[in-house]
Amino acid sequence: MSRTEEWAARFPQWNDWHWQMRNRITSADGLAEWVSVPEGLRREIEECTGVFRMAVTPYFLSLADLDDPEDPITKQCIVSRRELERSPNDAPDPLNETGSAVTPHIIHRYPDRVLLLATMECGMFCRHCTRRRIVGESDVTPTARELDDELDYIRAHPEIRDVLVSGGDPLTLPTDRLETIISRLRAIPHVEIIRIGTRVPCVLPMRIDDELLGMLKKYQPLWINVQFNHDRELTPEAEAALNKMADAGIPLGNQSVLLRGINDDADTMRKLVLHLVRCRVRPYYLYQCDLTEGIAHFRTRVETGVDIIHKLQGNVSGFAVPKFVIDAPGGGGKVPIGYDYVREINDKEVVFENYEGDVYRYPQP
Ligand SMILES: *Cc1c(COP(=O)(O)O)cnc(C)c1O
Ligand code: SF4
Repeated sequence: MSRTEEWAARFPQWNDWHWQMRNRITSADGLAEWVSVPEGLRREIEECTGVFRMAVTPYFLSLADLDDPEDPITKQCIVSRRELERSPNDAPDPLNETGSAVTPHIIHRYPDRVLLLATMECGMFCRHCTRRRIVGESDVTPTARELDDELDYIRAHPEIRDVLVSGGDPLTLPTDRLETIISRLRAIPHVEIIRIGTRVPCVLPMRIDDELLGMLKKYQPLWINVQFNHDRELTPEAEAALNKMADAGIPLGNQSVLLRGINDDADTMRKLVLHLVRCRVRPYYLYQCDLTEGIAHFRTRVETGVDIIHKLQGNVSGFAVPKFVIDAPGGGGKVPIGYDYVREINDKEVVFENYEGDVYRYPQP
């Protein structure tokens, strides 16, 4: 019996997502109620939770092996002393989202789409979060009134045809509150598509219930991007949540963050993307880790990401290969960084490599 099954059998409310939210682990004492916590780890957590917020759903904790310091689940959910390290390039807001904010909760960086920060609450506070400066800050979460006023910006800008609802995690909002936001967006004639960015299927899969899906189905075309970083997160519970969303007719994409010691090799990533496509989720982006404060220990060299994608391309189904991107520091947007297959381009021909490194030529018209 897995620990998840064991705890699910012990707690009758295990599958109630509100129960999971209420019982999140936020301290060393809280953790000790669930698992045995070695003295060293207890001190480390106490030191760090004074600086950074921690919150882990019992469900996600049940996947972690706390005895293994290299465990990919533990590293994503339990605070570490390494978060207190500062690297010279760190910034509190590396993507300058404050600079591109057109209202307190709308970021307009690209011509035809905006990012709407619908809440700052999350199922779990990921240790590698880019927006860690604001997630969990209840005073940054907009009230219904404030948000409706801010939607006037979208109403007044007919060039906006795609609204990405993110945060925080919008699927932690009560369904009726989320419906208010989505229905108001849907009522704007020039908003063609609505997107939701969420980690809930990974950290709180019981939230994906019929009530939520019944609501979302009314507002198609609606896309959902999830975040899975390691194959171990694709549990039977997560698979069921993804299946339900796909069955509701919602196209699914995945955005992974490239994390040192968690998923920074081609084999780990191959397992993840192949499992995602079996769950009808299209790997969309693989992000180079941002320059956010306190996450330097997760960063890899950029070549690591390029090499992983190079090794996937040609060796797995084309649609299982995500695009590797750097979100440009300072706020330039996402830029794909790829292996350069082109050896030479001249007036007569293009000389290029295939996925196995063999050289081919294409004559220019
Ligand atoms: C990521 C992002 C988007 C969406 O970008 P896509 O490449 O279309 O997925 C939109 N606005 C902001 C500010 C973003 O960071
Ligand atoms: S769910 Fe997203 S916004 Fe929330 S902590 Fe994790 S990465 Fe950050």
